[in-house]
This record gives sequence, C-alpha cells and structure tokens, in this order.
Amino acid sequence: MSALENQGTATGTAAGTAGQGNGAAPLPGRVAVENPATGQTVGYVDEMDAGRVALIVERARQAQPGWEALGFAERAHLMKELRYWFVQNRKRVIDSLVAEGGKTPEDAMLADLWYVCDALGFWGRSAERYLADERIRPRSPFLLGKKIVVRYRPAGVVGVIGPWNYPLTNTFGDAIPALMAGNAVVMKPSEVTPLTSLLVAEGVEAAGFPDGVLSVATGSGETGAALVDRADMIMFTGSTRTGKRIVARAAERLIPVSLELGGKDPLIVLSDADLERAANMAVQWSMSNSGQICQAVERVYVEEPVYDQFVGRVVEKVSHLRQGAPGATGAVDVGAMTFPPQIEIVERHVRDAVDKGAQVLVGGRRREGPGRFYEPTVLTGVDHTMEVMIEETFGPVLPIMKVRDADEAVKLANDTRYGLNSSVFTRDVEKGERIARRLDAGNACVNDALINYLAHDAPFGGTGESGLGVRHGPQGIRKYCSQQTVLVTRFGPKREPTMFPNKRVMSKLFDRIMVLLWGRRPKRRS
Ligand code: NDP
Repeated sequence: MSALENQGTATGTAAGTAGQGNGAAPLPGRVAVENPATGQTVGYVDEMDAGRVALIVERARQAQPGWEALGFAERAHLMKELRYWFVQNRKRVIDSLVAEGGKTPEDAMLADLWYVCDALGFWGRSAERYLADERIRPRSPFLLGKKIVVRYRPAGVVGVIGPWNYPLTNTFGDAIPALMAGNAVVMKPSEVTPLTSLLVAEGVEAAGFPDGVLSVATGSGETGAALVDRADMIMFTGSTRTGKRIVARAAERLIPVSLELGGKDPLIVLSDADLERAANMAVQWSMSNSGQICQAVERVYVEEPVYDQFVGRVVEKVSHLRQGAPGATGAVDVGAMTFPPQIEIVERHVRDAVDKGAQVLVGGRRREGPGRFYEPTVLTGVDHTMEVMIEETFGPVLPIMKVRDADEAVKLANDTRYGLNSSVFTRDVEKGERIARRLDAGNACVNDALINYLAHDAPFGGTGESGLGVRHGPQGIRKYCSQQTVLVTRFGPKREPTMFPNKRVMSKLFDRIMVLLWGRRPKRRS
C-alpha cells in the first residue's frame, strides 16, 4: 500500500494533476483546492477528522523507534535520496506550487524547492554534530569526580502545521530537522495548499523512507487541532491568532511548541545609502510572492534628504512589474493572492490609509478579471495611525514614510508588537550594525533583506508576537528533542559526607567553606 493510500489522503488528486475535478462538486468530507490565479479547481483532498488523525499519529508512533535506530548516517543518506527525487521531479513540484499557490515559478523554484533541497543536505550533514552528547564539567565541590553528560533524544511524533504561502518551505522544510533528529513527523498543510505536501509524501516513499515516518493529515483547522491533541511536539507557522490558540491547546497536555508567526518588517534607508540597492531590495521583498511572506518588507522609513529620490526609484520599478497568471518562467513578476480573505485585508489597509490622508502612487486596487490579484501598490503620506503601518498586511503594498533622522526611524521601526526581520541601508556599515542592534526584531540585516533566512546554520526566529523559538542553527533541531542529563559516579564512597545522620561538625565545616569561598565583599572593577 502506498504512503498516500495508507494515509487515506487524496486519491488521484495529488499535485501535478491540475485541472482534475474542474467544475465538479467535491464529495462530502473532501476539500476542493483552487488555483488562485485562474479560479479553477486543481484537486481535492480529504477533510480528516480527529479519528483519522489519531490513526495517523499512532502509525507514526510505531514507526518512530525503528527510524531512530537507523542512525544519523542512514537517515542522512535517505535525505540525499529524497533530494535526488526532488531534482528529478522538479517540474511536477514547481507546477504543483504554482497551481495551488498562484505564485510565479521563480518563487516556487527558489524560495520553496531550492530551500528544501539545500535543507536536506544541511540537516543531513549537521544533525549528528548538533545532537552529539555534551560533556559538562561541574564546578560544584559536591560533584567532584562525577561525569555529567547532556544528551538529546527525539521528542517522538512531531506535528508540523504549515501555512499556505510557502507550502514546501514552511511545512516540509520544518519536517527535515525533525526527521533527522529521529522523530516521525505528521504534517498538516493548509487546506488552501495541501497538494504539494501529498507530492512530498510520494517522494518520501519513492526515496525509500520507512512506512509511517512522514505522513500528511489533510483538512482544515480542526484537523490541525486534532494533531495538537496527539503529537509530542508542535512546529507551527502561520498567524499570531492561530499560534496563540495552539499554545493554549498544547498547554493542556504540556507539550512543547515552536511558533513562527506574522511580521511587520521595517526597512530603514539612511541618507548615505546606496539608494538603487535599497530601492531594489524594498521592491523585491515587498512584492515577491505578492507580499505573502512572513518577513516581507511591510514598511519603509527614509531619511528626509533622500526621500524624494528613493520614492521616485521605487515608483519607477513598481510601475514596471508584470502581474498576471503565472505560466512559463520569465513571464510575470507578481502572481496571485493565495488566500481568499487576504485580499480583503489588503483592501481594508489601503482604504484605511487613503481615508486618513495617504497617497497611492502606484496600484491601489484589486485587478479586474479572473483570478485573485491585487495590484503592486506604493503608498506615501503614511503614519502610525494607519493599519497599513502597524498591522500585518501580507500583500503587495509598500508604504514609505519620511523621517527626520536615524533615531526617529529606529523609534518608528520599534513601534510594533511584531519583531521578525528588519533592515537598515547605509554605506557606513559600522553605523548600520549599531542601528541593527537597536531594532527590536529577532533578525536584522545591514544593506540586505530576507537573505538571512537561507543561513541554515544561523538561528531565525521572532520576538514579541512574531513567535517563540527559532528554526535553523543548533536550536533549530534541538527543539525537536527532549534533553536528558545523565550523571555517572564511577568511584563513590559508601557514604557521602552530606548523608544522614546530620552532624554538627559537618555543618560547621560547610559553614567555614562557604565563608571562605564567598564571604568577601566584592570590589567593583574599575
Ligand atoms: P492560520 O494561522 O490560521 O493557518 C496556518 C495553519 O494552521 C493552517 O494549516 C491552518 O489550517 C491551521 N490551523 C488553523 N486553525 C487551527 C487550529 N485551531 N489548530 C491547529 N491548526 C490550525 O493562517 P491563515 O491561513 O488563516 O492566515 C491568516 C493570517 O496569518 C494571514 O492574514 C497572515 O497575516 C498570517 N500568515 C502568516 C504566515 C507566516 O509565514 N508567518 C503564513 C500565512 C499567513 P487551514 O489553513 O486548513 O485552516
């Protein structure tokens, strides 16, 4: 039986079968998947209830010990086999991402497929090093001669709940370190974009992974909630609202949760910046994937002397962006809005800004015709009374605000409850780094944006309402483990000096030692 059949997921509707089922009503218990760029149905998946999720988790639980016992080298080999499968099947994977997400093939190739292929190699190479036993040298006199080792062991069954903007990177991308740590994984993709995860399950089977090690539970938020009720650890990417719900639900069972949530990422342009580079970065990373990136550039602060010049460059570039239904590579720059309610949020933010006095320099409206598109938009005359400057817009909208100086830019950049990524542009890189360190965000770039996400070896996480925990780096895999501290006494006396019966002489001795060790008043270092 194939992994897909075993899971009871879509039958014959996995990604790559775009167009299947067009016009037909979904059967009861099935969810239709729509191409947001054309409005056509591209497949159906099962809406799995709590009972089915329980069965999938149980199967994963049975598969986990054997998977752990395979060891790092064999798991790393299977990751390479899977990477080979991805490369051989890259067209199907990209077509699937384009069909269900309405994104451009370039975004599907670089931000989803490339990321995952790179991650398969990285975690295959690095997992053993990050999870190696750590020898601790205890300083307490009571522990003299004892060996202490910290070890990492897999949590068990990890539930990965993913969003619709990056169906591969933000779902399977997180499964990779969890698998390398020796966990079994159950993925719950967004019901808006579940097809690519089914394709991954096919790849995992073709690459020779043992049955049940990676499964897909398709369905809506209820399916995700059922996974939270069963898994041993949850990795979640999505909205802050749902993230908080997941934490509350996970607290019932006291299981660990790692969250990557929304953002309202600022980009600061100082008057000595390379304006062409800064403008290119601002346009690229506000409009890429129609702005549906958790760490998209969502607001720009520009020092007064270069404000007009910067705005002019951005307007020129955004006016020339080609938007439309993604087809062949190189055809369009900006695709569709994936999630139906998202376009209404974008419209609301722009309307609110305009009502409060903002100017629309480019775009500013939904595109006519089939599919779900919002025109690449540039706003000026914005301030922090407007939703577009404080709430996550998650659309192709770039509001630009004039500031007096760097201090005002930092103050406004930090006027947010989010804190995911951030950027500052200046030719004085030392000043840039000083400013980056003042930004209240889990990540900060100088003369760059977003590319830090590709550093698999550097932690990436949010502060405030942008999340808890990190992906990437040592913590990006250790979070999928429980820690065990093992103490070994090789040569111990029959009776330790601190043992019963309590003796006055021993208490006196410890009292003396305490005074000797810590009884001197500290001198302040000059
Ligand atoms: P959600 O956070 O609601 O969805 C993310 C995932 O969680 C989906 O798989 C979803 O399932 C699932 N889910 C929903 N409710 C629950 C629940 N109670 N328990 C467990 N899992 C659940 O995001 P939305 O799709 O509603 O998007 C809303 C906003 O989130 C956007 O407007 C945007 O601001 C932000 N967002 C942030 C992303 C990021 O990368 N940080 C990515 C996408 C969105 P299903 O989709 O099937 O309902």
